Amino acid sequence: MKSVIVEEPCYYRVRRSQILYFQREIARWIKRFGLKDWRICHDVQHDEECFARTHIDVLGRVATVVLSSPWADPVTRKQLRRTAFHEAGEILFARLAWLAKEIDEETHAVVRRLESAFLEE
Ligand SMILES: [Zn+2]
Repeated sequence: MKSVIVEEPCYYRVRRSQILYFQREIARWIKRFGLKDWRICHDVQHDEECFARTHIDVLGRVATVVLSSPWADPVTRKQLRRTAFHEAGEILFARLAWLAKEIDEETHAVVRRLESAFLEE
């Protein structure tokens, strides 16, 4: 969390080139994680609570990755890359999370650990 206090919220629109970069990063990790049997869909929606979220249809093996725009933080390649890794990680663990609803939050936490382990700071 940032310690800077701002008077009014400031939002940063995610540009088209950044959306495409994010989607390429998703595709890269999906390939590296070997998730060839999943169909990945993309969308962009207004959501101020997160950088992105992924809707999972476990039985159909369809994941819809929804990138948020605008962001409350500046849109950087580093954060786009990190967000893409995170969402791909959630798809990787989606079936496990589905098998035990209780580990859904833990999945999010484990993916966070992977971010720190695999991505540069
Ligand atoms: Zn998450």
